[in-house]
Amino acid sequence: PRSGFCNENSTFYSKRNPLPLPANTSLDVTTFISFQPHRGTTAFIDAATGRRISFSELWTAVNRVADCLHRDVGVRKGDVVLVLSPNSISIPIVCLSVMSLGAVVTTANPLNTAGEISRQMADSNPVLAFTTPELSQKLAGSGISIVLEKMGPTRGVRVVGYMSEMMNKELSGKNRVRDRVHQDDTAMLLYSSGTTGRCKGVMSSHGNLIAHVARHLVEPMDPHEIFLCTVPMFHTFGLLNYVMATASLGSTVVILRRFELHEMLAAVVKYRATTLVLVTPVIVAMMNGAELIKAKYDLSSLRIVRCGGAPLSKEVTEGFIEKYPTVDIFQGYALTESNGAGGSIDTVEESRRYGAVGLLSSGVEARIVDPDTGRVMGVNRTGELWLKGPSIAKGYFKNEEATKECFNLQGWLKTGDLCYIDDDGFLFTVDRLKELIKYKGYQVPPAELEALLLNHPDILDAAVIPLPDKEAGQCPMAYISRKPESDLSQKQVINFISEQVAPYKKIRKVAFVDSIPKTPSGKILRKDLIKLASSKL
Ligand code: AMP
Repeated sequence: PRSGFCNENSTFYSKRNPLPLPANTSLDVTTFISFQPHRGTTAFIDAATGRRISFSELWTAVNRVADCLHRDVGVRKGDVVLVLSPNSISIPIVCLSVMSLGAVVTTANPLNTAGEISRQMADSNPVLAFTTPELSQKLAGSGISIVLEKMGPTRGVRVVGYMSEMMNKELSGKNRVRDRVHQDDTAMLLYSSGTTGRCKGVMSSHGNLIAHVARHLVEPMDPHEIFLCTVPMFHTFGLLNYVMATASLGSTVVILRRFELHEMLAAVVKYRATTLVLVTPVIVAMMNGAELIKAKYDLSSLRIVRCGGAPLSKEVTEGFIEKYPTVDIFQGYALTESNGAGGSIDTVEESRRYGAVGLLSSGVEARIVDPDTGRVMGVNRTGELWLKGPSIAKGYFKNEEATKECFNLQGWLKTGDLCYIDDDGFLFTVDRLKELIKYKGYQVPPAELEALLLNHPDILDAAVIPLPDKEAGQCPMAYISRKPESDLSQKQVINFISEQVAPYKKIRKVAFVDSIPKTPSGKILRKDLIKLASSKL
């Protein structure tokens, strides 16, 4: 069965057109993207400087950088390359070059501390990092070779190349014997905490990414959209959609280096952007400030706001549409582990189903499973969403236990999200079953903060839970059990953590309890603490 709901085994099938997957198993995703025919001219624009790069310049640069990385730096198939950078035109070039060699792209959030980045590097073991002069300081002392975006002051790092030089170096023409890349080979290692525990490297294959790109070729995305990308390119949302999919469609992406509301609005006006890519808190900010915004900025080019990464309620959607009646909101739902597959709204007609995250992506099968009994359930019933299909990642890097927990043997990914699918096949998210906290769309794994809290000499036990927050969606709150006679204060706990983590991971609220509620096997009863916190609000 290809479309609609199948009663026999309670599996939902996508209503979208089938995926045109290439039969050739020896294919890397960069080649797949570069071979897509389109008539687009401008690939990327740097919003701040106005610098443009055309598609032909993009592919020339990708080939040249790949050549330099292979010949001069010695990057080989299977090597991991870390990208640590704010959004920039260089990111697509670096990522596509690295993957064309069969090497693996891993990314880190530039807001992370040197300690957080070094823990991630200990796991992924990169041979090379691409970064900016400023951010290179977070890698000082790591001994890793570095390619810098541009010249600038650096200390304590080993620079082996500059992007501007690599992009301008003529192809060598010989000695370009590269390893053959297969669709099963790992192309990308993005970090996510999944349903439980700390961040893990999600192994996405070339085939997974090809399926993601292919989806955009069948789903009705208008190739003439001019996207203004404010979401980070180190995250699956930015990287897969506004680096890879748009490059296959021939669309233009205007890149905002960092998010600032007024810079973003000025860029919409300047570049006549048709589509804004946002996370939910920005939609709320635009809604609340609509009168001033509309008085100051001519947003007449804007037709669509694409958003995802965190829940967007029916109320906010309606409120936004009321303020901006010529703009439609296209929501989407996916996770790092699904490589863009999940649900998406792709047409104005679909967007009228306010609150829905869309129809199941092309090529995707879904199940709704009762988290207590494991029973597979039918239409309009809420349970854990399981997803299956060609984009579902291979598993977690060097972590069989977590892989087994999230990816079952039949190929289903357990998303950890409570969802339902309605009679028309629209997917709705209801709640998050997994531990993960999302602060302004950024992942905050509670296990990471709990491990840090337990290092404090006055803390006996700790649990971190999400606290609903109007502006950020959620923020981390800690329940602490102090050692006897300790007079540790809330402020001391907050400071202890904020010294060690990126700003978005900060603990924003603390409460003290005698003991942390746990199951007999020692698992934190987070739902009990979440209830306790909401009863106190
Ligand atoms: P990440 O791997 O960082 O993309 O996080 C994926 C998680 O973000 C999902 O499992 C959901 O919990 C949440 N998420 C993503 N998109 C949405 C959405 N449109 N509505 C609700 N939650 C979402």
